[in-house]
Amino acid sequence: MKKVLTIGEVLVEIVATTRGEGFLQAQPLVGPFPSGAPAIFIDQVGKLGTPCAIVSRVGDDDFGRVNIERLSADGVDVSGIEIAPGETTGSAFVRYREDGSRAFLYNIRHSACGKIRPTPASEALVEGCGHLHVMGSALSVPDLGGMVMDAARRIKARGGTISFDPNLRPELLDAPGMRRALEAVLAMTDLFLPSGEELFLFDAAGDEAGAVEALLGRGIRSIVVKRGAAGASLFQNGLRVDAPPLAVEELDPTGAGDAFGGAFLAFWLADADPAQALRLANAAGARAVTRLGPMEGTSNRAELDALLQDPKG
Ligand code: ADP
Repeated sequence: MKKVLTIGEVLVEIVATTRGEGFLQAQPLVGPFPSGAPAIFIDQVGKLGTPCAIVSRVGDDDFGRVNIERLSADGVDVSGIEIAPGETTGSAFVRYREDGSRAFLYNIRHSACGKIRPTPASEALVEGCGHLHVMGSALSVPDLGGMVMDAARRIKARGGTISFDPNLRPELLDAPGMRRALEAVLAMTDLFLPSGEELFLFDAAGDEAGAVEALLGRGIRSIVVKRGAAGASLFQNGLRVDAPPLAVEELDPTGAGDAFGGAFLAFWLADADPAQALRLANAAGARAVTRLGPMEGTSNRAELDALLQDPKG
């Protein structure tokens, strides 16, 4: 089985437990929870027993340890997480507005994970892994973006595979060179994991069938569209499979897309039946939203099977 690598931010998340238009109104807060989109993704891959690793950077502090302990316990190789003495691990605060939408306050750029860079350990992982998962948000950070592109080219040149989750806030699209970087990654992508509208990032026609056809025409093997509370769809090779949403109670949607992606990739790499891979990933996304804290709802295989048997559990 190919070893999966991802590169990007590791941080902690502190989450408001009530709705409110400010953090003083949304008390109490709970956490710190391990977090970071690439970290949640790779934790889900590890929980399914697929060999995997992350390259990142944390401070020599409790917030960094929260992540390293959780990821290693779940089977992730953490040798590529650089521990930077004197620096602070990144953090994010999340609250829910009265309308249910989320407001994030990030402390990433000036924390340890804002300076992820190649190290001997990260180089060894790029050489040793056969699959790279690329997060679009990483491409907007100049040095990190270059490092991810370099890893993608090297792994692809050795016959490895690439998955790509655009994971993009719209304002990031206007970052210098972003469109070019997205196009370059897409040209190497084997498995594309857009959320809703991200399907139209590269062909703005606005018609789903047309966008899918154009993307498959570019050489992408599988496209999985995440549709939040409406489930997910898989397109490959003339095949379309839809997974209706599982009827779970949504408590905290942060991290669902990453848990979904990590699970789908684990089964895709194992050459599972595509419909079965989609069903299990749909369950991973659904289970993720039932837990408070972004990484608290990643799942092992038994938990996915149990949810599929009885979503009300
Ligand atoms: P992202 O966080 O990348 O935008 P989504 O919000 O689309 O990802 O969630 C990923 C997947 O998780 C969905 O495609 C679906 O399978 C599952 N999911 C998300 N929210 C719910 C929900 N409320 N009920 C059931 N499944 C959900």
